[in-house]
Amino acid sequence: MKTTAKNTGVKLATAILLTSTFIASSARAELVLDEAASTSEKAAFNQAIDYLSKSSVAREVLQTLHRSTNVYKVVIGARPILSTDEEPGNVYDPATRTVYWIPTYGFQWVTGFNKWQRITPALGLIHELGHAFHQETDPVRHEKDCQDKMLTWDNREEKRTIQEIENEVAKTLNESLRRQHHYTTMKENSGIGFYHTASATTVQAANGTFARLDI
Ligand SMILES: [Zn+2]
Repeated sequence: MKTTAKNTGVKLATAILLTSTFIASSARAELVLDEAASTSEKAAFNQAIDYLSKSSVAREVLQTLHRSTNVYKVVIGARPILSTDEEPGNVYDPATRTVYWIPTYGFQWVTGFNKWQRITPALGLIHELGHAFHQETDPVRHEKDCQDKMLTWDNREEKRTIQEIENEVAKTLNESLRRQHHYTTMKENSGIGFYHTASATTVQAANGTFARLDI
């Protein structure tokens, strides 16, 4: 009986953790959504968190950030561009511990005999939170890995985040696995890149077209 009660308590706490307490109004939450987020953006964020929470790897990332004494913020939208070298899109800024996330940006690339691979905006969110998780759990290694440039992966931190977090979550959620970081550099005008999805948790295109966003 005692065990049952305890388990129920843990289960309940997890359920609360993974939904409404991510909204900035909770004083306890250390992973917070930007207060400027609209009602529909909050809904998209919570939908993504619920979807990702089916993965134990994603749950570990979320719970670690949530328990942190540092504040990690998710801002809906692209980071303001600081230089022309930067690509707009989802990104993690370690200096401010902020994830910039676009809830309708899916990513697509092609493998083998013209087989299209697509990942949901939610998977993009856990990728960026994965960087935050690495900074939180081992800041020295995170900084070192960011400086360690690698062909096709950009740097070791990207490789580690894709292989150890993004792809592990993708396996659980039946999404495509990335074998490198940027696919866009290989082919211009190929359609490879970001496209608009119908929601944060689907790879279906918003308007029936998988056209790459011109960004
Ligand atoms: Zn990344």
